[in-house]
Order: sequence, then structure tokens, then C-alpha cells
Amino acid sequence: MGIEEMEILHTPADARSYVLKRQREGESVAVVPTMGALHDGHLSLVEIGKRECDRVAATIFVNPTQFTPHEDLDQYPRTLEQDLQRLESLGTDAVFVPEVYAMYPDGCSTSIVPPRVANRLEGQHRPEHFGGVCTIVLKLFQCLPCDVAVFGRKDYQQWRVIESMVADLNLPVKVVAGEIVRDPDGLAMSSRNRYLSDAERQSALAIPRALEHLASQVRQGEKDIALLQTNLLRSLDGGGIADSEGVDSVDYAVIVDAESLEPISELDRSAVALIAARVGATRLIDNRLIEL
Ligand code: AMP
Repeated sequence: MGIEEMEILHTPADARSYVLKRQREGESVAVVPTMGALHDGHLSLVEIGKRECDRVAATIFVNPTQFTPHEDLDQYPRTLEQDLQRLESLGTDAVFVPEVYAMYPDGCSTSIVPPRVANRLEGQHRPEHFGGVCTIVLKLFQCLPCDVAVFGRKDYQQWRVIESMVADLNLPVKVVAGEIVRDPDGLAMSSRNRYLSDAERQSALAIPRALEHLASQVRQGEKDIALLQTNLLRSLDGGGIADSEGVDSVDYAVIVDAESLEPISELDRSAVALIAARVGATRLIDNRLIEL
């Protein structure tokens, strides 16, 4: 299949007619929203979309409204040609690559108030982030009125936020989640990993190691959340997640209810360990589901 066979859609109108035409022909359509700089984690979601539906469309859009001021919007990696090649070689049917002005024309001023599950954790550290995420995801669902949308559990809270928004607003789309894809050294794949120097990457490995250590304590029967959280932080500290002045660079390292993300005191239900930490100038997030 040549690259010309994957449809490249630039405008919301083109995107919408692509999906409606396929659905009129009796085909189902899955959508995989991304910000580009694609890696195998993103591509695993495309594979899930292919399994779920007759057609899969990816979107590539670096959404300005989900970046808070002083974040890396301008530096965010943009590798469009490579991304298109990777999508095409995977057999992706279409890709929606709108310009910023197509998604946010002058005067565009409506935004979504995200659901309650957005308020904690990332929501506290990145005010307005989930408002921007919900707004763009709802807009993408309007442009591509798909049957299925695939999101990664790498951004665990984002997945919970999207599921809640879809339920709260009766959106006619099935949300499917993909597991975290990791590099062989254990680091969760992320477009932002390319910011890391070799030394920083070594420090960053403290994050998956801390989660692995947590899982082994749970396997040995530990259920006390306060103790598990203390140990989680200790593994991060011991693994070198602190900046050169020794300043704490962990935004959070918590174990919370897997659905609501509310705090729990005992491991008596499905939970998730969530970590956000800065390594040098790069902010990384990772998580691990703890199913009983
Ligand atoms: P992004 O381009 O970072 O906005 O991510 C687009 C989608 O890919 C989101 O649903 C992410 O959760 C998902 N994703 C990012 N990294 C990974 C990964 N390592 N494994 C699985 N899914 C991922």
C-alpha cells in the first residue's frame, strides 16, 4: 500500500464526510487521537482500533489548549512525515491532521468543564489541562463521529476523564483502553522521552522500578496504603528522582481507587499507583494497575 492510499484529511468537513461515508457503507470506524511524534505505544492503539472496527483513523494534533503556560507547546516534537509513514505501513485507513486555526477558528470560545475525576492529581498540577483535553476530544468526536475511540492507559487519569465525559454527555462512542507499551529497559514510551539525556534516562528508570517494587510488595500481601505510598516515594528518592539541588521533583506518587481516583486507606479493591515526576526539565508520568 502506498502512502497515497491512506487518506489524509485536513478539514473538519473532510474528516466528517470520510467517517459518515464509511458508516453509510455499513463499516464501523475507530479513531485514535494523538499529538504525533508517534512511537510503538501509539501504534499499539492503532492495532486495537483495527481489531475493533472495519476502519481506523488516527488524528495528529498538538492541541494548544491542553498545555498550561510555561509548558513545552513550542518545543513539542513534531515529526509529521515519519508519523504518516509509520501509520501508512500499519495499514491505517485515514489520518486527520488539522491546522490549529481549523480546530480553533478566531472567536472560538466554548470549552468543556471536565468531570470530577479531573480535579485531583494532574488537574491540580496542570490547571486547565483536562479542560483543554475534554474540549479537543469532544471536537474530534464531532469531526470524526466514530464508533470506537482508543486511548492509552499510559495517561491513566486522562482515560478516566474521557470515560466520564462520554458517560456524562451521552456521547455515542465506545471508549477502549490500550495497555502501556514500554521500552525494553522498562520506561513507558512517551513522545517526551526524547528530551532525556542518557543520564536522565537512567534516573527516569527509577519510576518503573518503583512501580515494580510496589507490585512485588502487594504480591507478598501488603495492603496498608500509607506504608505502600511511603515505600513508593522512598524507591523514587533512592532511585535518584530528585534534582541537582536535592529538591523534591515528585509531583505525586499515590495509590488511589482505580475508578474514581479518590484516596483509599486499605487495598480492598482495584487500585492504581500513579506517579508524576520531573527528571531534569522533563515531566514524566507512569502508573500501574493493582488488581486484587
Ligand atoms: P499523546 O500523543 O501523548 O497525546 O498520546 C496519544 C494517545 O497515546 C493517548 O491515548 C496516550 O495515552 C497513548 N499513549 C501514549 N504513550 C503510550 C504508551 N507508552 N503506551 C500506550 N499508549 C500510549
